[in-house]
Amino acid sequence: MKIKEDYRLYHEDATPYPFVPSPNWDMGMQPMYLIIHFTAGSTARGAIDWLTNPQTANPDKRVSAHLVISRTGEITQLVPFDRIAWHAGFSYWEGRRSMNRYSLGIELDNDGNLNCMDGSWISEGGANYRDDQVLVATHWKQFQEFGWLKYPDAQVHAMLDEARLLKQQYNLVDVLGHEDIQQDKVDPGPAFPMAWFRQQVFGRPEPLVEKYVVRHHRGSDDLQRYRRQPRPGAAPASGQFPARESSGPQARNPTSLGTSGPGGGVTRL
Ligand SMILES: [Zn+2]
Repeated sequence: MKIKEDYRLYHEDATPYPFVPSPNWDMGMQPMYLIIHFTAGSTARGAIDWLTNPQTANPDKRVSAHLVISRTGEITQLVPFDRIAWHAGFSYWEGRRSMNRYSLGIELDNDGNLNCMDGSWISEGGANYRDDQVLVATHWKQFQEFGWLKYPDAQVHAMLDEARLLKQQYNLVDVLGHEDIQQDKVDPGPAFPMAWFRQQVFGRPEPLVEKYVVRHHRGSDDLQRYRRQPRPGAAPASGQFPARESSGPQARNPTSLGTSGPGGGVTRL
């Protein structure tokens, strides 16, 4: 994967990634950060339609992002990286307001927070999900516990490849969640392994801040493979990340995980 002079993504063999141009952008980009979102929808196609909609009747509703990553890891570009995309509204971070100008925005196809009804997990849009697709957790901005749709490994790894490329290309200083910079936002939420992810991108230890209260649902502990490195100061080896299917050695050692077991055990990610 590489970025060419037109600020668009290409494969190593020079074939372009899918590009669906959004009319919603400005000039004047000064990238410093990468902002991760979830789409709060059930398909990547639906998100792409929304993020490229000119909203001629309601121009205030125009939104966009630089990239959308599907649940199978397919990347679609909507806005070239030298243009401002409209993914963060009234936002603030480290003395800067209106973060669109300073950030590249990536939307992960993910239906966000889910309610449990009659034993099934249902999104706001009415999509149904299985127990094993859902993490049960209380977001630090909320008092109520929700289900949160997990991010498949293929999607997380595509995001990681992308983040490493963008960090190198634009000398980015950090990766943030939308929830970090805008008051009323909760994305990408407890199911995204943000601390692990930042460690992988920047190779620096992350502060051991307990951000979400996670209650594992029916013993599903597959997010354990995204644990942060255990010792602050121990930078991860370059290119090291969990195997896509099998659990790593950390996940096989229950004493390192801090979980009290399935079904009601509280674990803090
Ligand atoms: Zn967002």
